[in-house]
Amino acid sequence: MTHTSADDWTAATVVPGPGGGTLARFGPVVLLVGSDDPEVVRPYLEHAEMVAANGGQGRQLIRGFALMLSTSIDQSPGFAAIAPHTTGLAVFVDGDVVVSVDGEEISGAQSLAWVERLIPWPVTSVSAALPGAAAPAEGTAYRLDGGVVPAGGFLVPTTGGTPAEPVLRPSTQVRAPQPPPDVEAPPVVEPVVEPVVEPVVEPVVEAPPVVAPVAGRPLPPTPADEHVSFQSVLMSDVEDDVDDFEPLPIVEDAAQVHDDHAHEQVRGVYCKNQHFNDPRVLFCGICGINMVQQTPVLVNGPRPPLGVIVLDDGAVFQLDTPYLLGRDPAPDERIVAGEFRPLPIIDQSNQVSRVHARLELRGWDVVLVDNNSTNGTYVHLPKTPDWVRMPPGSEQVLVQGTRVRIGHRTLAFNTHAGAVS
Ligand SMILES: [Zn+2]
Repeated sequence: MTHTSADDWTAATVVPGPGGGTLARFGPVVLLVGSDDPEVVRPYLEHAEMVAANGGQGRQLIRGFALMLSTSIDQSPGFAAIAPHTTGLAVFVDGDVVVSVDGEEISGAQSLAWVERLIPWPVTSVSAALPGAAAPAEGTAYRLDGGVVPAGGFLVPTTGGTPAEPVLRPSTQVRAPQPPPDVEAPPVVEPVVEPVVEPVVEPVVEAPPVVAPVAGRPLPPTPADEHVSFQSVLMSDVEDDVDDFEPLPIVEDAAQVHDDHAHEQVRGVYCKNQHFNDPRVLFCGICGINMVQQTPVLVNGPRPPLGVIVLDDGAVFQLDTPYLLGRDPAPDERIVAGEFRPLPIIDQSNQVSRVHARLELRGWDVVLVDNNSTNGTYVHLPKTPDWVRMPPGSEQVLVQGTRVRIGHRTLAFNTHAGAVS
């Protein structure tokens, strides 16, 4: 079937395939993790469940996993997570997992960070596989309606399976009808944390005769009768919907700030696909293509956003402009003059100065500068054991995954530009 909305997707058939990982389905959220270790898998399951319990919004799924990878996960086993968004299907892939949507393959293997995409509706065929595993062929007599099972891949078939309106199934159906997608917490979403607890895999009761499986002889995949082409886009390029929370700060005088910083020129290199990059990166931050094998040509170009700051409450601030961070940065003359945008740090601890620190963009670097704050600015660099207090007034270049603590609040720096050689 062709999925043209979040409701369609929530009612889709999900077919698990064999392999050594963990597959979970919580309402509209489908998660494939490249591990069967309960301790490793647990945080991924918890986030997927939380997103499902909040209605299964793709944007929340992606934000949460991005924050998780940059702050609390040292070694990811590789995973893929999918949830619907209002305008399409949100796909998040980290590591060697390959997700295929209507023939386009999405993998994090070539990317130093992760890959996130929004595939606009309609979406017809979706599959995913861990390294060394294959997505199941169409016609396989298993499906996962909810819960957590061992698996190496999954398939949302193009044919057969689920009618568009699952609640209208005939009463001969053995399986209980799925709840309407608006239900906040579907009954199948139980707090299952262990990978193998009560797997809800059951044979398809009313498999269409043309794809009825024959024991020991898997049928070849049913050819898709149409190929719907699409263009995938980065989630961060997609405008928020009204029912989604607003990630970017409201700027009183947007035109003023925008004009000051939007077209700042920097020296950089273009990848083969014409994405403008930091000359120091090994892989394109947009498409992930290897930049090493091409002869770098330094040219001037418009500086793209250098990443995002994600606050511990999920708020996201795009680094296309410098920011003043603090309890009440808005009255500062540098904000009034349009040189900086405010990034308010709301904290009950009374340890945040009015202007506590600032984030500057220098070339391709994001630089954190302590503003001689009373209680200090702390940073935790990736692969280091401790939080370190910055000397008053000192600077710190942020790298992917750097965490910053101001008062009792924590910020994480995420960039798709990846590690610097
Ligand atoms: Zn590129």
